[in-house]
Amino acid sequence: MNRFETIEREMIEWRHHLHRNPEFGFEEINTAAFVAEKLRSWGIQVIEGVGKTGVVGSLTLGTGKRAIALRADMDALRISERSDLPYRSQALGTMHACGHDGHVAMLLGAARILAEEGGFDGTVRFVFQPAEEWGRGALSMLDDGLMARFPFSEVYGIHNMPGMPVGRFATRIGSIMAAEDIFEIRLDGTGGHAARPHHTNEVLVAACALVVNLQTIVSRRLDPADMAVVSVTELIADGTRNALPGTATILGDARSMRSEVSAEIERRMRQIVDGTASAYGCSASIDYGREFVPLVNTSEQTRVALEAAASVFGPGAVEDDIAPIAASEDFARLLEKVPGNFAFIGNGETSAPLHNPSYDFNDNVLRQGAEYFVAVARQRLR
Ligand SMILES: [Zn+2]
Ligand SMILES: [Zn+2]
Repeated sequence: MNRFETIEREMIEWRHHLHRNPEFGFEEINTAAFVAEKLRSWGIQVIEGVGKTGVVGSLTLGTGKRAIALRADMDALRISERSDLPYRSQALGTMHACGHDGHVAMLLGAARILAEEGGFDGTVRFVFQPAEEWGRGALSMLDDGLMARFPFSEVYGIHNMPGMPVGRFATRIGSIMAAEDIFEIRLDGTGGHAARPHHTNEVLVAACALVVNLQTIVSRRLDPADMAVVSVTELIADGTRNALPGTATILGDARSMRSEVSAEIERRMRQIVDGTASAYGCSASIDYGREFVPLVNTSEQTRVALEAAASVFGPGAVEDDIAPIAASEDFARLLEKVPGNFAFIGNGETSAPLHNPSYDFNDNVLRQGAEYFVAVARQRLR
């Protein structure tokens, strides 16, 4: 039995413990304490409370000056678990529906192997970040001095992928996950009697025109080769059955694969909102925010990831040009600071989707995930 097989049993126990005790973003108090206690017990230097509830472990061997970071996310979601698993969530209304319990267990497994067996020269940073689902955790660690206090020159992360067979690994060079922008548009006019619209500057017709006009950003303003989505998801107006509304709020979400496209969506949206509002004689304001930035893998580090993955998963099980997906990940914030790679590992074809009440991380993936992280560290810090 090799070392990974022995540790596999422990990783499964850790994973089930975490699954039973999920914690929402920035509330990962017990999760962080669990991670810190494990890392310390293997002689790894640990700092807690980085970016609120984040944990960073540092392990240095030899005389090498290079440092790389391996990252896992720790937070759960406000979803009520639907399962009869023996280790199902004990926290009402909160569950690990994105598999971050598995990500933590895999990175802990890798940390233990590297602490006990070494095989590298330099420093490995184990970054356990809070609040990925909010898109705030990585930023919060960066704002708390992550790069200055725990310098590293590249970073690697993985996410499980339902629908992809267990034992498969996939990534690509360049954009792999989307930016998420959120917007809130407010229209102001004057409401009034439904029978006397000519005495009002009501906003509902303007709001409806705006919802339609916003669809021309993707269909008429962006290059068709660029992936983008503009979705209006809510329209709230203050009218009643026989009174026209004087204010309306339109909310929505836009996705894109490149920062330039995100900037262009915002520019075009402002143009369309101003033009439509003035055409209907009302005034408008927009709050446009960037929740997630696009996740862009660098080429050298992606080649490293592919090589490490081939040594673990087998060359035939590694896909080097997976199609980008429109979901978002705040690992992207780390890639704004240093080069690195983010990849997917199969969670099984029968796995429930992410963020689904019946989802569960696949324990058969733990060992390969840990082996992958170890292979990356040994390859980069020879
Ligand atoms: Zn998620
Ligand atoms: Zn996730």
